[in-house]
Formats: sequence, structure tokens, C-alpha cells
Amino acid sequence: MQDTHVHYVVADEKFLCTEDGKIAFLSHADLARLNFEPDIKHALKSKSSEEDFVVSVAYKEIPGFSWRTLRSLVESVTEEEFQTAGRALQILRWHFDHQYCGRCGKPTEQHARDFAKVCVSCKLDFYPRLSPCIITLVTRGDECLLAWHARSKDEKYSCLAGFIEMGESPEQTLEREVKEEVGVSVANIRYVASQPWPFPGQLMLGYFADYAEGDLTVDGEEIRAAYWYRYDQLPNIPAASTISGRLIRTFVQERQSIRSNNES
Ligand SMILES: [Zn+2]
Repeated sequence: MQDTHVHYVVADEKFLCTEDGKIAFLSHADLARLNFEPDIKHALKSKSSEEDFVVSVAYKEIPGFSWRTLRSLVESVTEEEFQTAGRALQILRWHFDHQYCGRCGKPTEQHARDFAKVCVSCKLDFYPRLSPCIITLVTRGDECLLAWHARSKDEKYSCLAGFIEMGESPEQTLEREVKEEVGVSVANIRYVASQPWPFPGQLMLGYFADYAEGDLTVDGEEIRAAYWYRYDQLPNIPAASTISGRLIRTFVQERQSIRSNNES
């Protein structure tokens, strides 16, 4: 039988990569040749006719390969590769984080049909946890509001974002987060696009919003600095493969086309 399955190989949340920084896809034969003994192997349920897998292995140095975090690969892989690798990582986390029932403490086992684990005793089930978030670019004419987030060591300016709380709609979250983080009110909230963001299981819902009123006042905890930037005078912004980078670039294109229409 021909060996066509590919395996994402993960150790300590890092992906096995080739020397030039691409994710390595190993066959059964490769895994055996490199003496990997996976403790977990899980199907990705990809759309391809051949099933792909993620395997969890013990960390070891291998000549010709390197281990990289998915975050460090954001700018060097395609959006589709990023999404699939993110799924692989989340499957392993879900597996390791739900080996025991959170209600009665007994072991869990694989659900008979669903992508879930179920308690062997009380039958409570555990689906992979997703955390929906909003991410928004607030704009004011030719300007957009960009913030340097406290979690980012490098001086990089991006959109505002936050987790949706229980009982909130995404639009309510957006209004609350923008007010809390930078002190301004918004109007005319428009959905643009979404992106799974596996750090850990976030689902980013991307919006545009118009500035309504208020002065910029940074909260100093989540946000280090925030400024209005003209579309043609932007600071260091996130990669185009991220939803934040995409929202900003979409805004820039819109302003450019308005400008060129006015000139012609
Ligand atoms: Zn239980």
C-alpha cells in the first residue's frame, strides 16, 4: 500500500520544520527513520482525500530540522497552511487538556461520532474550546486608530481586540472594548472578515467601526500607546496574513481609491 499520509510533528507546542523554515510533513516511513515514537496521533479531518495527521512526540534535536512555534511562522506560511497547522496545535491542546472530566474527575474517552471527548462515568462531553473575539479598525476619514499592545514587545501598531463575554453580542463587545482600551465611542459597525487564531483557541471576528466621539485615553494596561494615523503614513503594522493586517490594508485601499476617484 502506498504511504500517502502526511504528519505534522509537534513537540512542546513547536512544529518540526525544515532548515529553511517550512513546516516538515513526514510520512510513516520518515517517522520510523527518524526514530519518532508518537504518544498521540490524531486525524486532522482535512478536505484532502488522503487523511492528514498530527503527532505529538518527545522533543529531540535532529540534524537538518528545527523546531518552531506557530507564531514565529505567521509571516512565512500561507493563510491556509497557518489555519491547518493551527488546527493541528489545537487538537493536541484539546487532547492534553481534557484527559479527565472537569465535573467528576474520571478519565475521558473519544466520543463515538463527534470531535469530542466524553467522561467514562458521568458522560459529560468536552468539545474543543473556541473563544470568539472581536477585532476592529476604528476609522475617522483618512485616519485609522492603531494601538501598541502591552503583550507585543516590538513597537508594532495594530487593531483593537477583545474577548466576547458571556451574554454579549460581538457588536456590544466591540463598543465596550474600544471604550475601555482607548476611551472613544464608535458608530456604524460593519463586519468584514474572520480568522481562526490558535493562541489558544481564538476565533477573530473582524469589523470596521467609525469614530463617534471622545478623546484618546490609553488604559495603560492592555494598551501602551494609541494614535490616529493617516492611511499613507502608517507605522509598523502586522503581516497581511493576519486579520489585523488585512483590515488595515483594506482600509488603505479604500482611501486610495477614493483619493484617485477624486483626482480623476
Ligand atoms: Zn465525569
